[in-house]
Amino acid sequence: PGLRPELNVLSPRKRTRQIQVGGVAVGGDAPISVQSMTTTKTHDIGSTLQQIAELTAAGCDIVRVACPTDKDASALKIIAQQSRIPVIADIHFQPKYVFAAIEAGCGAVRVNPGNIRKFDDKVADICKAASDCGVSLRIGVNAGSLDPRLLKKYGSATPEALVESAVWEASLFEECGFRDFKISVKHHDVVTMVRAYQMLAERGDWPLHLGVTEAGPAFQGTIKSAAAFGTLLAQGIGDTIRVSLSAPPVEEVKVGSKLLEFMGLRPRKLEIVSCPSCGRAQVDVWTLAESVEEGLKDVKAPLRVAVMGCVVNGPGEAREADLGCASGNGKGQIFVHGQVVETVPEDQIVETLLKYANEMAEEMGEA
Ligand code: SF4
Repeated sequence: PGLRPELNVLSPRKRTRQIQVGGVAVGGDAPISVQSMTTTKTHDIGSTLQQIAELTAAGCDIVRVACPTDKDASALKIIAQQSRIPVIADIHFQPKYVFAAIEAGCGAVRVNPGNIRKFDDKVADICKAASDCGVSLRIGVNAGSLDPRLLKKYGSATPEALVESAVWEASLFEECGFRDFKISVKHHDVVTMVRAYQMLAERGDWPLHLGVTEAGPAFQGTIKSAAAFGTLLAQGIGDTIRVSLSAPPVEEVKVGSKLLEFMGLRPRKLEIVSCPSCGRAQVDVWTLAESVEEGLKDVKAPLRVAVMGCVVNGPGEAREADLGCASGNGKGQIFVHGQVVETVPEDQIVETLLKYANEMAEEMGEA
C-alpha cells in the first residue's frame, strides 16, 4: 500500500466505493485528495475565485464554499463554472440551497443532517435532483451539530452517536437508490474522531472524508490533524482529507499535502532535512533552514535537501540527500549526490543551494 510498499508500514487501503466530485474521483483506488474551504463571502465572487485560485496553486484538489444566504446560492453558478477544481457547496439549515447548488453545477453538496429541519422529507427529492445532474453528496455529521435525538440518547457526541447519525442518514439515501455520497463524522477530539471513523469504516463501503473539526490554530490543528489522519490512514481508512485550521486556508492545503507526502501516499515534493541545532552548531541552523526553505519554495523537483549545523552528522546527511550543506567555521560545504562540489562562505549557502537545485530540477525536467 502507498508509494513505498517495500517498507510495509501502512495497512491495505480499505476498499470503498468510488464517487465523483466533479472531475475528481474519491474512494476506491483513487488517490487520496486534499480539500479546503474558502473563507471569503461566497457572494463576493471575485474574492472567492481569487482564493480558490490560490488554493488550486497550493495543490488543493477540491474546494468547499459556504452557502448561508440567497446571495451566496446565486453566486454558485459562476464560481462552479470558473473554478479549475471541483466546488462543493456547504449547506446547513436550508434544504432549498441544496437544490440551488445542484442546479448551479457544483461538483458535490455537503449536507448536515443534524441541522436541516425536516431534512428526511426532502431526501427523495434531493436524490432525484443530484442523480439527474450527476452531483455527489457528502453526509457531514459534526459533533457540534449532532441530531438532538441522538444527543439525548447518548448524552454527548460519542463515536457511537456520530456513527449512528451517519449510518441512519446513509440508509435514507440508499433506500432511494442513491449511493453517490461520502461521509464524515467529525469531532474536535482526536481519540473520539479516530474511533468514530474506525467504527464507520466497519459498517459500510462509503468513501470517507476525514476531518478533525474545529482543530484550532495552526500549531495545534496541524498536530491534531497529523495524529488523527496519520492513525487512520495507516489503518487504510480515509479517501479525502481536510485539515481545519484557524488560519488562511492555503495553510490547510500545505499541511494536508505534506501529510500525504510524508506518509508515502502522494509523490514527494521538495523536502528539507535539517538538524535541530545543538551546542556544536557553527552556524544559525534555524535561520539557515528557513532561508533555504523560502529560497527553494518554487523548486518543483522532488529533491531532498539537507541543512546541517556541523560536521558530526552534516556530511552523512548531506551525502544521503540529493543536495545538502554541512556548515562549519563560517563556511558551508555543498554536497550534490553525496560529493562535495564546493565550499562557500555562510552568506552564500542559500544562493548556492538554489543554483544547484535549479540545475538538478532542469535535469529532471521539472524546472
Ligand atoms: Fe548538533 Fe551538528 Fe547534529 Fe546539528 S548536525 S544537531 S549541530 S551535532
